[in-house]
Amino acid sequence: MLPTVSHHAAELAAAVAAVREAGRLCRTVQQGIDPGTLEKRDRSPVTVADFGSQALVCRALGEAFPDDPIVGEEDAAALRDPANAALLERVAGHVRELRPGADPDAVCAWIDRGGADGTGPRYWTLDPIDGTKGFLRGQQYAVALALLEDGALQVAALCCPNLGASLAEGNGAGSVFCAVRGEGAWYLPMVADGTAPVPVRVSERDDPTLIRFCESVEAAHSSHGDAARIAAHLRIAAEPARLDSQTKYAVVARGEAEAYLRLPRNAEYQEKIWDHAAGVLVVTEAGGRVTDVFGKPLDFGHGRVLAANRGVIVTNGRVHDAVLDAIAALEIGRF
Ligand code: AMP
Ligand code: MG
Repeated sequence: MLPTVSHHAAELAAAVAAVREAGRLCRTVQQGIDPGTLEKRDRSPVTVADFGSQALVCRALGEAFPDDPIVGEEDAAALRDPANAALLERVAGHVRELRPGADPDAVCAWIDRGGADGTGPRYWTLDPIDGTKGFLRGQQYAVALALLEDGALQVAALCCPNLGASLAEGNGAGSVFCAVRGEGAWYLPMVADGTAPVPVRVSERDDPTLIRFCESVEAAHSSHGDAARIAAHLRIAAEPARLDSQTKYAVVARGEAEAYLRLPRNAEYQEKIWDHAAGVLVVTEAGGRVTDVFGKPLDFGHGRVLAANRGVIVTNGRVHDAVLDAIAALEIGRF
């Protein structure tokens, strides 16, 4: 069952169905990873799943909303190279398990629907596999899809195929988080089972010393050192939870952590819209707050990147100012 909403109901239904289908493809590919491939540094499973996921989501959106542009992370240029014919056949084979009859040309055409630049009044943004490193490690990753209109997030669907009811249980059965602007955020099981959607709410903790925070596994994506300085400044006792992908937004949205810190390592990197759009709407509709390290709201009006922001700070709202004050006092993000 889907949440009952008063606007964008068709978009929500299409988005949830699309990320569920893509999540199934990703899960099949991840389960097929040969444990030996990590040592061999074979990235082909994530490449196959990335293209397959984007093909399935773009096919579904193209059917439901043929005029909607999609800003996806991937394009099919490399896949069309005859040198990559075997790779394309692997992608098409996985897509066919869910969409019988899909041929390689159709798969490439679906993927290329994701080539929009994010400058129009209405578009979707897609990360077909967010957290590729987590995917390869057998850990958390997400399929992240959001609809923007006039720069405002309207609908989000975030599929986390390895996330269960709590982080403590390790890899779980798969979760979908969805949200509609002004209407709320909900949890659904990844595999539809007829149960009612469960509203998600952020935690009510407001004592900064009790903050549980999450951050990237990859230190290249967020400064672990600066996070540790913030933790010391606020006298946070708990160790950070390190997770890949927008699963971190889901964990804050459902009250399992009070904050997600994404702390810039330099002045050059610009965050990509598909790494945040879905997560931001899920968290804000669950009662949380999202800004950059300077306290500015994220500005989705600059095409494919968050050009007007630096870093990302996600909280339950109640501890937000305390975290921003710590960042300012420690001069984090000022290069
Ligand atoms: P996470 O799983 O939260 O560590 O984030 C994964 C995302 O980090 C990927 O989808 C990339 O788009 C993004 N990324 C790549 N390089 C950087 C960087 N230098 N700083 C921040 N994010 C990055
Ligand atoms: Mg990503």
